[in-house]
Amino acid sequence: MPHSTDEPRGREADRAALAVVGAGPAGLAAAVTAADHGLDVILLDAADAPGGQYYRSPADGLGATRPGALHHNWRAFVELSARLAAHRDTGAIRHLTGHQVWTVERTGDGDWILHAVTGEADDEARTAVRAQRMILATGAHERQLPFPGWTLPGVVGAAGAQAMLKSGLALPGRRIVVAGSGPLLQAVALSLARAGASVPAVVEAAGYGAYARAPRVLAANPGKLAEGARFGAELARARVRVLSHRAVTEVHGDERVEAVTVSRVDRRWRPVAGTGRRIACDALAVGHGLVPQLELAVAAGCGTRTGPDGTHAVTLDEELRTTVPGIWAAGESGGIGGVELALHEGELAALSIICEVRGGVRRQEARRAVALRRSRRRLRAFAALMGTVHRPGPGWSEWLTGDTEVCRCEEVTAGRIRTACEELGAGDTRTVKLLTRAGMGWCQGRTCGFAVRELAAAHGAGQEPGGPDRRPLACPVKLSTLADLSGPG
Ligand SMILES: Cc1cc2nc3c(=O)[nH]c(=O)nc-3n(C[C@H](O)[C@H](O)[C@H](O)COP(=O)(O)OP(=O)(O)OC[C@H]3O[C@@H](n4cnc5c(N)ncnc54)[C@H](O)[C@@H]3O)c2cc1C
Repeated sequence: MPHSTDEPRGREADRAALAVVGAGPAGLAAAVTAADHGLDVILLDAADAPGGQYYRSPADGLGATRPGALHHNWRAFVELSARLAAHRDTGAIRHLTGHQVWTVERTGDGDWILHAVTGEADDEARTAVRAQRMILATGAHERQLPFPGWTLPGVVGAAGAQAMLKSGLALPGRRIVVAGSGPLLQAVALSLARAGASVPAVVEAAGYGAYARAPRVLAANPGKLAEGARFGAELARARVRVLSHRAVTEVHGDERVEAVTVSRVDRRWRPVAGTGRRIACDALAVGHGLVPQLELAVAAGCGTRTGPDGTHAVTLDEELRTTVPGIWAAGESGGIGGVELALHEGELAALSIICEVRGGVRRQEARRAVALRRSRRRLRAFAALMGTVHRPGPGWSEWLTGDTEVCRCEEVTAGRIRTACEELGAGDTRTVKLLTRAGMGWCQGRTCGFAVRELAAAHGAGQEPGGPDRRPLACPVKLSTLADLSGPG
């Protein structure tokens, strides 16, 4: 199926000038901008509705009358959705919902084939689309650190609680402690409180004072300062205490959460003996930041870098090109940075592609790209500061007991990891994994990978250098799907 021109052309059912993976803020902004400028776009997303992790609409059956009530800047999403709908109507964008891309491959003539699965696991269908260029806007997932009791019912991810509230209008409990690290915690606590939960405390392991060490970055981002102040004031009004340099070091309960122990932690996040205080609650929403979702980028050979928060992210130039020709990335796949940055990067990536396709852009578009690059630099500087302040300190592993499960899928405890390192001679994380099966379960280490690596390092198994975990398949697929990689190429 040869195709050599970049110009808009007769549509082929499974082929486009540009494929965008992810219909979150970054992917949506990219897709509509590219379509505005005449490119034909295939937009794929695993979810049934656009919006990604941030713009989650309440499920239809719930009859929500104010779907934007839990969002900041819902107007931006309404506007993007209208542009998407208009482009869908003309066929400029083909939006494939419920399509999980599980791998990508390059054809001999330089196109990309994106292999996706749709439908339920027992009725899975496979499909493939082909594109000349690709933008990866696959977002992030939540980072978890284990602690005694974290497997009890009632313990949920902090970002997960927010997602549950936005899409299901449901609360994980009535009295909910919010804990972990990062600015998302305050947003989550406010949402839960507004939705009627009692939130006795936000427990933050880092200290907000650390932001003051970068006055120039703060001065360049007055909007972020104002947002922080607004969150602080609203939390105070909702009678939510914000406890910094503290961590939940244990969860108590028989059938489900009944209380948590909150301990003071030092700058390395080591719990300070004798400082534990019990707070009664029936749920705990906990998260330690977000981790870019990189499976497709890594499978395609894109270079990665380690960010100040300790996570890996796609390496990008100022035009949001990855190190692999034909692939761009935008939003949180390039590093955790928030919704505003994701929107800007999506648009910038699309303009960069337009410029390449056309051999230049009009003056107005060039001016827009300059403005976007400037705001991107400013927001990325703030994201780097945020990552540095909230990066987990190495002392967190001291709040684990020997029987705390670290890998939930394979039920591997901290004690077994310790034994693998100290008695069985595991000298690196890979050997720990082989000896214990940590990270070999359903989630393939997405939940426990960070914790296993840090714990192994703390017990003498040196952190091997290198990039993120390689997972050639972005999601589990049937063997028959794997066997049939013919696609349209
Ligand atoms: C659970 C959760 C809750 C959050 N809540 C908040 C909040 O309340 N406030 C806040 O400020 N920030 C929140 N964030 C962060 C915020 O969502 C991001 O800053 C923002 O959404 C980033 O936009 P994005 O487009 O880069 O990625 P996302 O919004 O994450 O969008 C990525 C999209 O890619 C799709 N995708 C990923 N992989 C594939 C694949 N292989 N095939 C097909 N589709 C794929 C996903 O379905 C998703 O729709 C949350 C993050 C998470 C993970």
